[in-house]
Amino acid sequence: MLKKLLMAMLLFAAPALAQTTAIRAGNVIDPATGAVTKNQIILVKDGKITDVGPAVKIPAGAAVLDLSNSWVMPGLMDAHTHLTLGSPGELFLEGEYLKASSALRALNGLRNAQDALQAGFTGVRDVGNDANFVSVDIRRAIERGWFIGPTMLTTGKIIAPFGGQSHNIPPEMGPFWRFEYQDADTPDEVRKAVRQNIYYGANAIKLVADNSPYYYSEEEVRAAVSEAHKAGLTVGVHVYGGEAARNVILGGADSVEHGFDLSDELLKLMKEKGTVLVGTDFPYEHLKVMGTAGGILPPAEVVSKGILDRLHRAHKIGVKMAFGTDVVLELPGKTRADMMLDYLAVWTEAGIPPAETLKCMTTNAAELFGWKGQRGAIAAGEAADIIATPSNPLENIQALRKVQFVMKDGKVVKKM
Ligand SMILES: [Zn+2]
Repeated sequence: MLKKLLMAMLLFAAPALAQTTAIRAGNVIDPATGAVTKNQIILVKDGKITDVGPAVKIPAGAAVLDLSNSWVMPGLMDAHTHLTLGSPGELFLEGEYLKASSALRALNGLRNAQDALQAGFTGVRDVGNDANFVSVDIRRAIERGWFIGPTMLTTGKIIAPFGGQSHNIPPEMGPFWRFEYQDADTPDEVRKAVRQNIYYGANAIKLVADNSPYYYSEEEVRAAVSEAHKAGLTVGVHVYGGEAARNVILGGADSVEHGFDLSDELLKLMKEKGTVLVGTDFPYEHLKVMGTAGGILPPAEVVSKGILDRLHRAHKIGVKMAFGTDVVLELPGKTRADMMLDYLAVWTEAGIPPAETLKCMTTNAAELFGWKGQRGAIAAGEAADIIATPSNPLENIQALRKVQFVMKDGKVVKKM
């Protein structure tokens, strides 16, 4: 009886016999170096890459996937998403609170997350405006295996000086922006806001530093960074330029979000400090529809010109960049992923070579996310987040619009 029980326990405890998958890859891109290796075998087991090379032996019984005519690379990442935002027409943050329930926004966010994954984005950082921590729950649902989706970083509520990103709200309406923002106006309040976000499940932190005539001091930024770093989280800060951006860079933020007005001097300071630029380089056709986004943005023509110039200068100066989109709209006839990939044309127009753009979408984003050595490369020990295209994105980055194969944590989620 005891023996029988022990046997039953052993059987129960034994992990399911995982099958090995072997990918025959015609061309494997290493985005970190831009190098291409031909005719490689990639072995995948238990969600991870176990071996890569030209002479790797395919074990008996392995499932074999043929990508010998494809360009194979690690999954793409978007460092600046708002998956649960999606206004048809001009963005109006308060309108989303009033006209869409958190349940509807959760469903929209899950839809957008899955759409992004199908297009090859296996990792995203969702930077707030998520209807009271809805993105945290989307992340949890994906992590529990209820739904397939990208690996997510979620920042929860955006920490900002009083008022969040809402303007001209009459006093009798109350501080209802706190649905998506936390007011924090001293270093101690900033620390508390970081702790509250972590408590409610955030695994990254987002600040908006300069959306009002008043902006965060270096000391306030440093308080957020030290509190977040102690807990193993990184900090991205929305800031456009000037003294506010200097405070963000010197305060030790991991990334500057947007940075539309960064001078050469500030870009050089970022390079020196290792601050990553997530430039959210909006396509003009999106800006036109967004309008001023309720007073957050200058007119489309001005922003568009400035973005191209700043992206070009940041690349020339050698600032480390990660690809981030900030899509917050619904455009007729386009999916969320279509709109994310619209940004590629802006990078090309700004003179960024395709290899550098791909690196910003993989290697650099993974580093910013704290995933170095875990995701973002095709190498033994990394998560098996693998995509393939029929043509070479190092020649024409638009090849990324035609991702034909997606593997996420070893599971095939899109196949030719
Ligand atoms: Zn944003």
